[in-house]
Amino acid sequence: MGKLELNNLTKVFGVDDDQVIAVNDLNIAIEDGEFLVLVGPSGCGKSTTLRCVAGLETVTSGEIILDGQSVTNQKSKERDMAMVFQNYALYPHMTARENMSFGLKMSTDLSKAKIDELVEDTAEMMGINELLEDRPGELSGGQQQRVALGRAIVREPEVFLMDEPLSNLDAKLRTAMRTELQELQLRLGITTIYVTHDQTEAMTMGDRIAVLNGGELQQIGTPLECYHQPNNRFVAGFIGSPSMNFLDCHLAGDTLRQDSFDYQLSAETAEQLRTSSSEHVTLGIRPEDIQPADAEDQNAVTVSVNVVEPLGDTTYVYFDLDDTPCTASVSGDLAIEEGDQLEVVFPEDCIHLFDGATGDAVKNRKLDSTSDSEYSYSGEPA
Ligand code: ATP
Repeated sequence: MGKLELNNLTKVFGVDDDQVIAVNDLNIAIEDGEFLVLVGPSGCGKSTTLRCVAGLETVTSGEIILDGQSVTNQKSKERDMAMVFQNYALYPHMTARENMSFGLKMSTDLSKAKIDELVEDTAEMMGINELLEDRPGELSGGQQQRVALGRAIVREPEVFLMDEPLSNLDAKLRTAMRTELQELQLRLGITTIYVTHDQTEAMTMGDRIAVLNGGELQQIGTPLECYHQPNNRFVAGFIGSPSMNFLDCHLAGDTLRQDSFDYQLSAETAEQLRTSSSEHVTLGIRPEDIQPADAEDQNAVTVSVNVVEPLGDTTYVYFDLDDTPCTASVSGDLAIEEGDQLEVVFPEDCIHLFDGATGDAVKNRKLDSTSDSEYSYSGEPA
């Protein structure tokens, strides 16, 4: 078992005027075997959360519960968790075998023969059995990362805690290791918290992602829930690349007004906006949802293309709307050039609307064939 609960977890550094609330009243329940990604910008409290769970930081208040038992006041080595760090944290004077054996030697009374067997089995699984007698200095970054992962795996912990474990690898290796790590986690079925600032890693690796900002949880959900049904403008902007376009508008009756366009809302959408606390509304539209306009589109907007970035299958088209830089992602087959005037539309089914004062989502895009329930995490490996 490895069900982990963070209840009202708070961590404050410093005192009085120098106080930093690194983690603010965090509530997250992570199911046994789940792969949860903690994501957010630099300084949002991801590492501090992980270090509190690992027992490397004391908590200011709140509780950490593993399988129904509080581990909040347990020392790090008493918690059945293994941490993998960004910088690998291998002992430089020890061989890969010694690095991988060290934790077992210190925390169990297994015989040397048994430890050797476990290390060799894990090394085989990680594809590093030829490297066991090498020291870290003789290994590449990717190989060191495998040893660091192997050292965590060999202990068969209840929980893996991973702090940006792939960020020191080059882009190609990072992508390969991403898939490998996911397969490994699925095979081992060990509850995992994975910290990253990279929204692509979050989207592709997590059963669920928890988005943090300023020490506070913004949303927890499956990657597609966070992508299509963001709770607020922060999540909408953080998840997805290129980012969602945001256009600050003024609500006049059933019309959204921006200096460069008027957007006539349907009665149904206008009704949803009645709950908004402000007449300022932010219209959000994902780059791939911007469509060429038909002649009869009442909400067509004329844009002037600043830059075109062809990526092959897709082309990114950049333009400004009233000084707001926007990106459209269109099929790579379309012949679009810098300076072109395009008629585009933001289909109402695809737009998101955010309260201009609070940033809370008032309306999210409609989902075509996928119902909300398909996005929920079942607790079973996907
Ligand atoms: P990054 O991605 O840059 O590592 P993060 O999301 O992991 O960022 P944390 O390292 O958890 O963020 O830091 C959260 C906040 O707590 C930051 O404002 C940071 O400056 C502060 N902080 C972290 N550790 C300490 C410390 N030991 N003493 C004082 N403040 C700290």
